[in-house]
Amino acid sequence: MHVIDLTKIDGSGDFPCPRCGSVISPEDESEDTYIIQNVKMTRNDQLEELVIQCNKCKTIIHITGFTAL
Ligand SMILES: [Zn+2]
Repeated sequence: MHVIDLTKIDGSGDFPCPRCGSVISPEDESEDTYIIQNVKMTRNDQLEELVIQCNKCKTIIHITGFTAL
């Protein structure tokens, strides 16, 4: 399982797919590079975790660290 912690990423939050290197931007909602599989919210309606699938290599990636932003 691949986990990306956004608090450990510099810049705008883009990161390369851990498997194929395709650049994934959590801000990009076009679903060109990835598909959202699941969204987890905290009790006070903050984004806690995003589960996405890379469109290129079909790897499942968990994105965390939203609450720290
Ligand atoms: Zn990929």
